[in-house]
Amino acid sequence: MTRPQVVIVGGGVAGTQAARVLARRVRGGAEIALVNPAGVTVHPELLPQVVTGVLGPDEVGVPLLLPGVRVVAGTVTHIDAEAQRVLYDGGVLSYDRLIVAAGSVSEVAPVSTISAHSVGFHTVGQALRMREHITRQLALAARATDSFDRAARCTFVVLGAGYAGTAAVTAGQSLARSIAHRDPRLDEREIRWILAEPAERLLPDMRHRLSRTTARMLRARGVEVRTQTSLSQVTSGGLRLTDGEFVATRTIVWSFGVRPDPLVTNLGLAAEQGRIRVDDHLAVPGRPEIHACGDIAAVPDPARPGRLAPMSGQHALHQGRLAGGNVAASLGYGSCRPYEHRAHDSVAGLIRT
Ligand SMILES: Cc1cc2nc3c(=O)[nH]c(=O)nc-3n(C[C@H](O)[C@H](O)[C@H](O)COP(=O)(O)OP(=O)(O)OC[C@H]3O[C@@H](n4cnc5c(N)ncnc54)[C@H](O)[C@@H]3O)c2cc1C
Repeated sequence: MTRPQVVIVGGGVAGTQAARVLARRVRGGAEIALVNPAGVTVHPELLPQVVTGVLGPDEVGVPLLLPGVRVVAGTVTHIDAEAQRVLYDGGVLSYDRLIVAAGSVSEVAPVSTISAHSVGFHTVGQALRMREHITRQLALAARATDSFDRAARCTFVVLGAGYAGTAAVTAGQSLARSIAHRDPRLDEREIRWILAEPAERLLPDMRHRLSRTTARMLRARGVEVRTQTSLSQVTSGGLRLTDGEFVATRTIVWSFGVRPDPLVTNLGLAAEQGRIRVDDHLAVPGRPEIHACGDIAAVPDPARPGRLAPMSGQHALHQGRLAGGNVAASLGYGSCRPYEHRAHDSVAGLIRT
């Protein structure tokens, strides 16, 4: 008898949890393939340590060793929901059940002048680039003879205070401080970090208490936190914020939001805020054979009726487990449950940089 085929797209937090739970439940009763660009999974919460140099780029990847799961190295380029096939850069996989867990990517800076100055903060490559950029700016500042140029190179602006922005400001500031301690030509007090967020509070999708604590901790570290403040204009010498201040800088860390993986746009499935719409059992309405979880999925938040669960590691973990369990249930193993997790979010970057 042929076993049902389950394909999981994405081997991040949600995808690996889904694979683990599913494999444990079905105990060989299904063929499970997990497609991920590499045989390792990177936890974005560890990127701050790449910026500070605590971890090397090769140390943030955890090998995808999942008993009962075939890991396929590849990037999915298209999902044909009618034919129940997944196309990836190494071939085609047919499925009876599909779990989409391809995560999110950084929003792209909309203006080319911004792109020229800016670094994102979502991948290992971007974390390394940020480390190199800060190191270079401070080296140039130490040698600068012009005081305006020196001040601009010592000023770092992070736009957007979601998880990536708060992690970027914390890690960047730690790195800048350690460089200043080692270089007698630099004074830590002249290095400015500004975190600007258009919403009324930092981490606007998270609980108020987490926002308040994060803002307090960042201010105590000397970060200039500006809420209800966005970008007004970029010039070659710096930027103007919507509160009117012109900031001379050579660095903009662009983390104004994340968006679901671009895969969503080609799926032909209903989307909400760019994420795949699912019901409270994480199944796609009208397509019970497809589940989605993690950042890519628009999951109703049980703690905040009418709103979507925020993109967070905690939600991804619990949704991944539930998707794995519910897909197993749809194959006759165990029972199906709704999403009930009430997250107690935390900001890993504040604790461990
Ligand atoms: C810098 C940073 C710091 C963060 N800090 C925190 C924190 O402190 N606390 C917290 O709760 N959350 C934090 N987050 C958010 C958290 O990391 C995410 O919400 C979580 O990783 C989402 O899990 P996921 O499985 O949905 O996506 P991911 O973990 O991003 O995994 C998606 C996987 O899918 C793969 N993939 C993408 N496209 C394809 C494709 N086409 N084909 C095949 N595979 C594909 C990716 O390579 C990746 O392996 C942070 C995020 C960032 C960027």
